[in-house]
Amino acid sequence: MTRTVQESPLVRRLVAPNPSPMTGPGTNTYLIMHSGRCTVVDPGPDDPAHIDAILETAQADHAQIDLILVTHSHRDHYPGAVLLQDRTGALLGGHPSIPRVNYPIAHGEEIFLPGCVGEAIFTPGHASDHFCFLLKDDGSLLSGDLILGQGTVVVSPPDGDMDDYLASLRSLSPYGIQRIFPGHFDRVDDPAAKIEEYLQHRLDREHQILDEIAEGALTIPAIVERVYRGLNERLTRAAAASVQAHLISLERRGVVKCDATVDPARYTLT
Ligand SMILES: [Zn+2]
Repeated sequence: MTRTVQESPLVRRLVAPNPSPMTGPGTNTYLIMHSGRCTVVDPGPDDPAHIDAILETAQADHAQIDLILVTHSHRDHYPGAVLLQDRTGALLGGHPSIPRVNYPIAHGEEIFLPGCVGEAIFTPGHASDHFCFLLKDDGSLLSGDLILGQGTVVVSPPDGDMDDYLASLRSLSPYGIQRIFPGHFDRVDDPAAKIEEYLQHRLDREHQILDEIAEGALTIPAIVERVYRGLNERLTRAAAASVQAHLISLERRGVVKCDATVDPARYTLT
């Protein structure tokens, strides 16, 4: 069953019925509604029942969906946009590389949303096609998977990039963000603290990885086993991807070197 939350006078949230260790309670779909218009952000997975719930919510407010925005193309955020576009004929806005996008968006672009002006902020790292959307009138940020309401974000190479991810987090500071409506879990009311926590977490993780390499854990599986003790087995692959993302960043900076001639690849300090 879909849950609906009124997040602000303009913004309503519907949680898609796709809970999992990776998606938390499910993907958040946001409806921005005002004066008979509706913009839908992240219609979620390929799930016709969730699309029905989105349409019913808009119809109950006598609002017509004329724009769909996607933060990125991952399968828990984007496939629903194709279904919703087919059902409504609405424009689909997002990164120009995403299939079916007919409203290609650029960094810094203003988007005229129902009852407010939005700004697109290009935020690669979790995904190379990732945008956040700022509601400029009240400082709400629809953060997709750049920032979540709980836990941390998976950065999975090669599409994910840790350096890009950290740069994207840091790039948010000038925007005066007042609250975050994330792609998963509940709203974040102290964005500056959350962003600082996220940056610190990655810095701590990097130090941990370097410590483990110094202690003789030279492969990704060995590092994952030591850094993520007692991890849910379904998350082991995500953990390995994040460790790899850190190692790529460390290698780029000349802190570690990688011997890829062996399997699994071996990492040593320089
Ligand atoms: Zn994602």
